[in-house]
Amino acid sequence: MQFLQSAQRAIDLPESDREVAVVGRSNVGKSSLINAFANRTGLARVSKTPGRTQLINIFQVSPGVTVVDLPGYGYAKVPSRIRQDWGPMIEGYLLEREALQMVMVLIDGEIGPTKLDQSMLEWLRDNEIPHQVIATKSDKVKSNAKPKRKKELAAGCMLDPGDVVWVSASKGVNIDKLQDLIRSWLAP
Ligand code: GDP
Repeated sequence: MQFLQSAQRAIDLPESDREVAVVGRSNVGKSSLINAFANRTGLARVSKTPGRTQLINIFQVSPGVTVVDLPGYGYAKVPSRIRQDWGPMIEGYLLEREALQMVMVLIDGEIGPTKLDQSMLEWLRDNEIPHQVIATKSDKVKSNAKPKRKKELAAGCMLDPGDVVWVSASKGVNIDKLQDLIRSWLAP
């Protein structure tokens, strides 16, 4: 997977035949995960100042097959003008991008879905947009707390525990499983 370009607006993205998109609250671990499944560090910038980058990044898996990294939502320090633009821009992309096969919704495995995550999921369901919940930072949940945490997180997303894929970018947990899933969503 290689970096293709950044765009300020969804309409400026290059055309694609088949695409998956990644969304999540700022600091959920989106850049780390993209780096992990691209098998390369430094591909998507891992930021210590969440919310600073409000660009859409597009990566190419093979010609016409792409992964889109959408700007993180819900970071309070983002100027309100940018926050106001986020919704319509991302909604427009999610509703209108014909190539879009799957939206990966990242939820912080340690803290579970926030209100914003829940409204994102509700919006995706209302609009019948295919999506997969991915719980990040699984290494931060202690083994003895895992079964309970898995149940709680899934319930907070109105899902069964088996519907959620748990990953850790730092420890490489389930990254190969995620790669297989992405490949299957992008397969013609
Ligand atoms: P983004 O804002 O969603 O792109 O999040 P980043 O990838 O920049 O990660 C936010 C913070 O969470 C950083 O300090 C990362 O080091 C940390 N982080 C990301 N993934 C993991 C993980 O799997 N495990 C742990 N323990 N920390 C992680």
